[in-house]
Amino acid sequence: MRERLPQITQEALQSIQIARNLEDLKNTRVRFLGRKGLLTEILRGMGNLPPEERPLLGQLANASRQEIEARLSQREMELKEEEKESRWKREALDVTLPGVELPRGHKHPLRQVWEEIEAIFISMGFEVAHGPEVETDFYNFEALNIPPDHPARDMQDSFFFTEEILLRTQTSPVQIRTMQARAPRLPVKIIAPGRVYRRDDDATHSPMFHQVEGLLVDTGVTFGDLKGTLETFARRLYGPGTRIRLRPSYFPFTEPSAEVDVSCTICGGQGCRVCKGTGWLEILGTGMVHPGVLQNGGYDPEKVTGFAFGMGIERVAMLKYGIDDLRHFFTNDIRFLEQF
Ligand SMILES: [Zn+2]
Repeated sequence: MRERLPQITQEALQSIQIARNLEDLKNTRVRFLGRKGLLTEILRGMGNLPPEERPLLGQLANASRQEIEARLSQREMELKEEEKESRWKREALDVTLPGVELPRGHKHPLRQVWEEIEAIFISMGFEVAHGPEVETDFYNFEALNIPPDHPARDMQDSFFFTEEILLRTQTSPVQIRTMQARAPRLPVKIIAPGRVYRRDDDATHSPMFHQVEGLLVDTGVTFGDLKGTLETFARRLYGPGTRIRLRPSYFPFTEPSAEVDVSCTICGGQGCRVCKGTGWLEILGTGMVHPGVLQNGGYDPEKVTGFAFGMGIERVAMLKYGIDDLRHFFTNDIRFLEQF
């Protein structure tokens, strides 16, 4: 029994040393110091020894017990510390991990084209002007040579609040408003982009759409200036090889008036489905400002001349990107919008 004591003690200390966690440690304690533990058995067996041997063995057994207890509590502290550390490591923030990428949006294709048009005209010295979307009949029609019984009103059937107040059908009222604010100063050189409203709804018309209006008033402005300005614009927007063509037309607020076509952006003028085989695409209306309109703006048509033009931003964007249905712009389908 005296020989077994150091052996058991050694075993216990080893078992404590290799315990991987608190569970292992608890089992070790039970195995040696529990009610049926190995050391407990030795102490219990002392009753069978001769009386003279009992004190010495009792002393040794107690010393072993104390040593084992001490090692147990020391190891317990170590293991608790280790567990705390590994939990901290598990839960800690690893700043070297790759981040979660958030989807990033971009400008709507109409806004992109709007800004592109603005940038081209700003580079040619035009200012950007704005006007109200809720307009009076006077600014939207009458001041632009469209009196109440004029047939041109039929093409711009709009949304009226009262007989006098409506949602503007064109950005042209900004021409009158700007001239009135500036007269008699020269030059007036503006573009006016913005929303307009008409009672139309199909593949190429929407009740709400966007126009850019342009106006240049100064002394000695000619039709040549008009053509040069629009040619420069078309080449900047659709590429250096773009040609333009002017066809006589009619607008109440310009005289003479013209429709401007650009050489087809898809086929380059050879003829295709988009240009319906003609090689040309209509992009805007233009003309020399009508003397009556200059007068309504506060300028003397005997002293100044000017040109004006207007285009639909949707139309420009559709031709630029080959989009076949204008309604795509407004349905907010992400599969469409992501393509620009
Ligand atoms: Zn074509």
